[in-house]
Amino acid sequence: MRTIEHWIGGSATAGAFTRHGPVWNPATGEQQAAVALAEPSDVDSAVAAARKAFESWQDISLTRRARLMFAFRDLVERHEDELAALIADEHGKVLADARGEVLRGREVVEFACGIPHLLKGAYSDQVSAGVDSYSFRQPLGVCAGITPFNFPVMVPMWMHPIAIACGNTFVLKPSERDPSASNLVARLYAEAGLPDGVFNVVHGDKVAVDAILDHPDIAAVSFVGSTPVARSVHQRASAAGKRVQALGGAKNHAVVLPDADLDDAAQQITAAAYGSAGQRCMAVSAVVAVGAAADPLVERLASGARSIRVGPGRDPASEMGPVVTADARDRVLGYVERGTAAGADLVCGGGTGAEPGFFVQPALFDRVTPDMDVYTDEIFGPVLVVLRVDTLDEAIELVNSNPYGNGVALFTAGGEAARRFQRRVCVGMIGLNVPIPVPMAFYSFGGWKASLLGDTHVHGTEGVAFYTRAKVVTSRWPTGDTGTTHLHFPTAR
Ligand code: NAD
Repeated sequence: MRTIEHWIGGSATAGAFTRHGPVWNPATGEQQAAVALAEPSDVDSAVAAARKAFESWQDISLTRRARLMFAFRDLVERHEDELAALIADEHGKVLADARGEVLRGREVVEFACGIPHLLKGAYSDQVSAGVDSYSFRQPLGVCAGITPFNFPVMVPMWMHPIAIACGNTFVLKPSERDPSASNLVARLYAEAGLPDGVFNVVHGDKVAVDAILDHPDIAAVSFVGSTPVARSVHQRASAAGKRVQALGGAKNHAVVLPDADLDDAAQQITAAAYGSAGQRCMAVSAVVAVGAAADPLVERLASGARSIRVGPGRDPASEMGPVVTADARDRVLGYVERGTAAGADLVCGGGTGAEPGFFVQPALFDRVTPDMDVYTDEIFGPVLVVLRVDTLDEAIELVNSNPYGNGVALFTAGGEAARRFQRRVCVGMIGLNVPIPVPMAFYSFGGWKASLLGDTHVHGTEGVAFYTRAKVVTSRWPTGDTGTTHLHFPTAR
């Protein structure tokens, strides 16, 4: 069986290789590879390689760093099909969706190509007589990324292109469930001319993560995954004195007002709920139907869910693939059972289907109440729940009472309602008639509340701020006129 190795200091290595984990093919239910699970000594090797590489990488000119990103960008584009195939085979999502993921990741690389502009500082002439002030930003050193299974290419690309373009070196610990794409990314960086040790990959589980969080030579940690792990990563990395951003889970609502175009809303919500089998952090998982919108909307959502073609990610006819593992499938099926037992109406779906593999049929629940666990929990599968309320204000209150605050959408034809909604809702990313409001690479991505621990969002200018620290220089050059000595605090009067 194929073994997936780490990538350390410019080459593949099995490392200590005392433990390995299974990599499944979710479409067939069979194990297709074994991934090496790093021991702390493997993390040490990766950090040592990154630390050594930082000595020279931090001094490479901005134009060379930018050129390297342009070369890497071209290679990502050229290898889009190969990356997408690796994603489809290990994650299970359909190929078209996997290609979309690679493209959204590439857009962050394109943003990082502009690094000379992004790192421009400020200069103030004559802040006092003969005195100037200026600021600039410098890299932090070795940065680490710990990423989830659901976007094995895009989520790491929220991090490493910006970190590296800013002059840092990087250690990536991708999800052990779909590890292969990260190794191809490492090879593409090498082909683009990135010096050995600037980008490293260690595969692994909690052992590798803890070794990263405690490592004294890692300056910053970016984490994306579930909220319980995000919380513990944030605490442990902060306690170790690191800069840390930890993006967590989500329960994303779509609020639908009666004046919305219900055909369009239902179509958009169906795609956002069941695309990637509901395994997107920005998936719509709860619909809040306001007043008279409810009955016609549920009818349309049910017909949308029933029409989805479920099948293997590699089959061009499939619109929705399986979930990632048998455990994930069983977890989702457990929620379907509990939702029914709690009294919600299961309108359609929720079975496994005839195929082998980890398939779940798109499920729709109506008349869900806020106390049911199909609403309170992030299910992370193809299950959409509908809650009914009477007014927009009730809908806003419901959304704001939820502990998560990643994404939210409002469907309406009314500008006043939309404006009130965007101002009052406590969520980081808002869509107005847009179901998955994932910001472009030149904006920053991040939620509020339990969806983000830490202060900075990823990519965009906040990404640049996270991976650099600022200096301000105040300078005065001798003119020969020494003046008088003043012991008071210097002022610009
Ligand atoms: P996860 O939390 O299980 O794993 C994320 C990473 O943490 C993986 O690399 C994993 O190996 C590691 N990990 C898992 N358990 C750990 C532990 N106990 N201690 C230390 N490290 C541990 O998440 P997942 O199942 O891979 O991904 C799905 C989750 O990620 C969902 O909750 C989803 O909402 C979230 N997510 C959030 C965003 C966002 O932008 N907010 C984006 C993508 C995914």
